[in-house]
Amino acid sequence: MNICKDRAFEVLTRLSVPRIAGTPGELAAAELLKAECDKIGVPAVIEAFEIDMPEVFEAKLTVTKPEVCEINCIGIGRSGNTPDEGICGPLLYVEDGMEANLLDAEGKILLLSGMAKPEVLERMRKSGALGYIACHGSLYDPEEMIPEIRTRNERRKPGEEDINFPGVVIHITDASKLLRMGVEEICIVEKQDGNKKGTSHNVVATIEGTEKPDEIIAFSAHYDSVIYGTGAWDNGTGSITIMEIMHHFAKNPPKRTVKFVWCGSEEIGICGAKAYCKDHKDELDKHRFNINVDMTGVLLGYEKAVCTCDERVAKHIDFMGCVEGFPIVTEIDTYPSDSTAFAEAGVPAMTFARLNPRGGAEIHSRRDMMEVLDPTAFIKTVEFMVKFSEQVVNAKVFPVPRELPKEINEKLEKFRKMEGMKKEEEKKEDKKEEKPAETKAETK
Ligand SMILES: [Zn+2]
Repeated sequence: MNICKDRAFEVLTRLSVPRIAGTPGELAAAELLKAECDKIGVPAVIEAFEIDMPEVFEAKLTVTKPEVCEINCIGIGRSGNTPDEGICGPLLYVEDGMEANLLDAEGKILLLSGMAKPEVLERMRKSGALGYIACHGSLYDPEEMIPEIRTRNERRKPGEEDINFPGVVIHITDASKLLRMGVEEICIVEKQDGNKKGTSHNVVATIEGTEKPDEIIAFSAHYDSVIYGTGAWDNGTGSITIMEIMHHFAKNPPKRTVKFVWCGSEEIGICGAKAYCKDHKDELDKHRFNINVDMTGVLLGYEKAVCTCDERVAKHIDFMGCVEGFPIVTEIDTYPSDSTAFAEAGVPAMTFARLNPRGGAEIHSRRDMMEVLDPTAFIKTVEFMVKFSEQVVNAKVFPVPRELPKEINEKLEKFRKMEGMKKEEEKKEDKKEEKPAETKAETK
């Protein structure tokens, strides 16, 4: 096997700097990955795509009664603008925004205990409330992490107009403070350009198959990170995992074509994988399988394979895990990562991940760093993945059926609903029976 943990971790060290969707940092990371592919002798192409990149100019949250004080906040992209003087009203704590929480919401500013899922946002808007405050972080965060509030932009279905329901995010410590001080009136001022666009990039490299070049197996890993962290684990590790798999296939020519896709902008809604599937639409029928990797190499961890495809793949991985002495948990499910975009586009997909035990390493904050990783844990995952990938890529008969199981199709339907990816005729039926969609947690 042509894989090497030291080589991989050397690349990871250089990759582990902020690379937030649509920023120069992300593009620099794309160029780094491309240069690595070139070194291996597998030329890569950087493919640009457009992303929503709303710009918030001003976001201010002020308690005006019983006393005046300002609360540190950031604006939620695409949530809307307030008049210059802001919107002011009584504060109402609405927990996670169930219908019963919103009975008395009219004319108020709502405080959620977490981030707003799309269906919660919809309910809050309809309640007649003026705006909302979402929460980030943990009550147990150390002092220095309290100013590090992270948000995600609200999503709009294609063609949907801005709703103008201004929202800001505060740290959960401040939410607790607001309730304890018995706020009578609070004001939000928010100014933004919600329609601003940006550019993100995928890095795509191909090794042509020696026997069946028209059958493609695409390996993917997102390489973008979120603010305040270096994204070493999420997903610098996945990025170097597929780089090592590329090293292997560069030395051991595959029978089928293998593609390597480093996706940008996963953290803002798996945009890179969606763009790849859209831009490569004409060759998607040749894409037989997507093997995605989102987070490997953590020292305290356990292996997981989430199969968004026929259950035989999961059973085979279970079996292989026993044969190889590689403990791995398998599931038939969608995963909040790029594999879901491939499956949505009709390509059977799966994600490998090495996740952490409760209380272990953390993603999406400054705590996601090299220190929680371990080259030996990392290379074991790569070894197993290479063995599995070789079987799939070089199989005499391609073993992954195109059809997706019924339960997966149902989950993908929910995903489409959440993402506004519905077909026109389905929209009409939707209005008749509107059930709240069970949404996945934020992307890994
Ligand atoms: Zn991730």
